[in-house]
Amino acid sequence: MSQAEESRMKPPLVPLATLLGRELRNEKVETPFVKFGQAALAKKGEDYFLVKLDCQRVPGSPATSFSVFSIFDGHNGISAAIFAKENLLGNILSAIPQGISREEWLQALPRALVAGFVKTDIEFQQRGETSGTTVTFVVIDGWTITVASVGDSRCILDTQGGVVSLLTVDHRLEENAEERERVTASGGEVGRLNVFGGNEVGPLRCWPGGLCLSRSIGDTDVGEFIVPVPHVKQVKLSNAGGRLIIASDGIWDALSSDVAAKSCRGLPADLAAKLVVKEALRSRGLKDDTTCLVVDIIPLDQPVLPPTPRKKQNMIRSFLFGKKSQNSTNKTTNKLSAIGVVEELFEEGSAMLAERLGKDFPADVNSGIFKCAVCQIDQPPADGLAVNSGPLPFFPAASKPWDGPFLCTKCRNKKDAMEGKRPNPTTITA
Ligand SMILES: [Zn+2]
Repeated sequence: MSQAEESRMKPPLVPLATLLGRELRNEKVETPFVKFGQAALAKKGEDYFLVKLDCQRVPGSPATSFSVFSIFDGHNGISAAIFAKENLLGNILSAIPQGISREEWLQALPRALVAGFVKTDIEFQQRGETSGTTVTFVVIDGWTITVASVGDSRCILDTQGGVVSLLTVDHRLEENAEERERVTASGGEVGRLNVFGGNEVGPLRCWPGGLCLSRSIGDTDVGEFIVPVPHVKQVKLSNAGGRLIIASDGIWDALSSDVAAKSCRGLPADLAAKLVVKEALRSRGLKDDTTCLVVDIIPLDQPVLPPTPRKKQNMIRSFLFGKKSQNSTNKTTNKLSAIGVVEELFEEGSAMLAERLGKDFPADVNSGIFKCAVCQIDQPPADGLAVNSGPLPFFPAASKPWDGPFLCTKCRNKKDAMEGKRPNPTTITA
């Protein structure tokens, strides 16, 4: 029986102090519990994960704490996955301005995630190693969830009411037409593996390199059109809470989002993670590394996310997320918003840095020092740059002028390479 039903049936004899107490408790519901479970089975040993529950927006202030959950599914070796696990969080946080409010911090986060992913990729490339990794990086601050991802390690959200939604996009060439177009336009070739005198086998890959993913961190040998620019989505849960399932493709190649969510409803997070891995193993066998994080974001007065009522199932089935439904993300989330389950705050997936970093121009006019919007390195304007108050003339007249924020020489070269442009030495050193 719900509280509302209960109060309708009982005479209204609740003392005022109790009512006031309830009010206060309701306000405290603003900070939820975060409980998690993790399970994994290794085939190649290239999956890594990161859980950090004690991060602080303002160092030394426990009231500003937030949590991070991340999965790194490495390929062609483990060094990119390990490097990203060790460096990405720091690179993201260094791109968020100091001394801002919580609201401002949450608004700055999507842009900082982009900067942190690109910076981590540049730093890894400088080591000259060839491995690569997917990254799905989740920041939970109160009821607000921000997810940044490259590759195909999905994060799904199961909310009260039985609505399952996808917070990531699969960056797989086989399934993502938009990404195929982008890679081709940036100078990559997309096709299948040719064997036995011209027979094509396997999923679509990009050449050179033969990678099935269109975005990753690392992959120095594959081509710069495989970019580290993440899809970012930010949502706010209602204070009924919700459950995240973050997992490598060993899970998602075996289970749909819907099946994974349903298979573990009503179980605490640690058991839920084990059950999802077991379910994937049962349906497909151990074909790949399989890692699963289950994260429950729950009201303080509620130890376990309750099993979800199934009433809305039929209505919702028509817009559940399958692998081919990534283009309908907006539509679905709008419906989620409409029925009050989730408030969508932000979503952007463009691979173009100009669209992701905003138009701010963070320069200290007095000192003439410019801070790179990606790597946060200060660079004096004398260092080969023409400095005006307006957009910088980085490119030959024929190409579109850069109208994003200041980038250092290294990061500007990276940006050009990702877009398939050859950096022109004469415009850089003019
Ligand atoms: Zn830079």
